[in-house]
Formats: sequence, C-alpha cells, structure tokens
Amino acid sequence: MGFFALIAMWFALPLLFIFLFILPVKLMIRSLIDIVYIPRQIVGIAANARLRRNHALEHATINVLQQRYGVRRLAGLASEDGFLIRGWSDDRALSRAAGEALLRLQRGEHDLAVHRHCGTSQAVGNFLFAVLYLTVLLAGGRLQLGAVMLGGAALLLISPYLGMWIQRAFTTSIDVSDVMIIGTSPVFGRKGPAFPFSLLLGRVPEGYYVHTGSGAALHGSWIER
Ligand SMILES: [Zn+2]
Repeated sequence: MGFFALIAMWFALPLLFIFLFILPVKLMIRSLIDIVYIPRQIVGIAANARLRRNHALEHATINVLQQRYGVRRLAGLASEDGFLIRGWSDDRALSRAAGEALLRLQRGEHDLAVHRHCGTSQAVGNFLFAVLYLTVLLAGGRLQLGAVMLGGAALLLISPYLGMWIQRAFTTSIDVSDVMIIGTSPVFGRKGPAFPFSLLLGRVPEGYYVHTGSGAALHGSWIER
C-alpha cells in the first residue's frame, strides 16, 4: 500500500465511522424525540384559542409586509398576548401592516393566515421524516439508505402543502372578529452596545412586539371604570 493510500485511509476511516455509526444513531434519537414532542406541541397550540388567533395575525402581518415591501428575512413568534416580528425596524409601518392584516382577515382573506415558511410546516416535515426513518430502521433490509433518501425527497415535496393544511386546521385560527391591536413595543436582543454605551449610541431594536387583546374584554374594562 502506497503512502498516499495510507494517508487517505487515515482520513477516511473516522469519516466512515461517523457516517455508518454516529449519524444513524443521532438521527434515531432525534426521530424518537420528534415523534413524541411534535404532535404534543401541535395539540397544545390547537387547544389554545388566543395563541392560534395571534399566530394567524402574525402570518397575515408578515404576508402584508412581504407583499408591500418585498422583504424576505422576517421571523415571527406568536404568544397569547400578541406576536413578535423579528427583522423589521419601522414601528409605524408595522402598526399599519398589522392593522391591515387584521382587517383583511376579518373581511375573509383567510389565505393570509397561512405562511409557507411557518415553523409548523418544518415541524410536520421533521415528524414525517422521523416516522419514515424509524419505519425503515424497524423494517431493516438492504435498501435502507435508498429508502430514507427517496422517502426524504418525497417528504420535501409534500410537507409544505401538508404543513399549510395543519396550519389551517390546528395552529392558526381565522376567528379574529373580536381581536384588537393595542400597540407595539420594541424588542432588544443581546447584540448591540452594552450599558452605558447604549445610552450614548442608542440601540436598534431587533424587532417589535405587537400587543393584541380581545375587543370585548377591553370594552368591558372601560365600562367597569
Ligand atoms: Zn407560523
């Protein structure tokens, strides 16, 4: 065996070990976690009406911003009291977009409530891949790698559409007739100058939180006063 062949083997053996042993085991553990936690997360969101409404409004706001300004890199995160839009720095434009999004949802533009790049779609893709991988492992056989790759490619094609269906059915709600937008507040990340330089230089928010509430609840609190 030549010198270069020895060197090549020296590098190839650890790689082979990683591909044949470590990666499949890591993938198996990941799949076992996904197959349990992803359905639980989706059921948890499905049972939370406020979260679902805010998730729909978050998607609609991002859709409006992307239609209007052609921006691509926006991320959103919904919670029970509103939603965060990351990667956007114009407070007023965001308020206008959120207001327009709410109005358009209320008027029946229900497609706005769904977003192609939502975390739900990724989670659905991961879940289906976990099912595929564990099934192939349990079934055994020689075509394991081929089956996983072929199935994975098929899932890449299907999962965006399935993800949008799951969004419509479980993780968003178009029942926004009673939702009100209360206001926005900046959200500061860990990046940027630290105190006391932040006072001198100012800090750029990494995004804005849009606070929402129920129109009926707000109206009620007015009456109480
Ligand atoms: Zn989403």
